[in-house]
Amino acid sequence: MGDVLRQALEPVLRDINATGAPLPDIRDDDWTRDPGAESAMLWSPDGSGVGVSAIVAQPAPDRVAHVADQVQEWVIEELWRRAATNWPVCPRHPDNHPLTATVRGAVAVWVCPVDGAVVAPVGALA
Ligand SMILES: [Zn+2]
Repeated sequence: MGDVLRQALEPVLRDINATGAPLPDIRDDDWTRDPGAESAMLWSPDGSGVGVSAIVAQPAPDRVAHVADQVQEWVIEELWRRAATNWPVCPRHPDNHPLTATVRGAVAVWVCPVDGAVVAPVGALA
């Protein structure tokens, strides 16, 4: 990987580390075949990859913003893939739906939205 792309990636990777977001596996790959650009691939643990490139002629801040935009798309896609969309998971139907918060006997509880069973008080999930 060229220094131009490496230097544009560096602050973006620092932000990823600071926020605990997923970190791509970055591999050198001159996929643009463009002498005016430096490129690499951002790989996911699931084996999918997207390209990232920096345009050498751009001013450094523009390159960073351009690279940040490309890496951000990767991170969002990765988060979407990983995020548990059914939080908190219903232990009775873990693949079907999240729990619903409601009140039973003056206590806030998590219940299964289908059979109404109380799973735990809010704040006491296992
Ligand atoms: Zn359920």
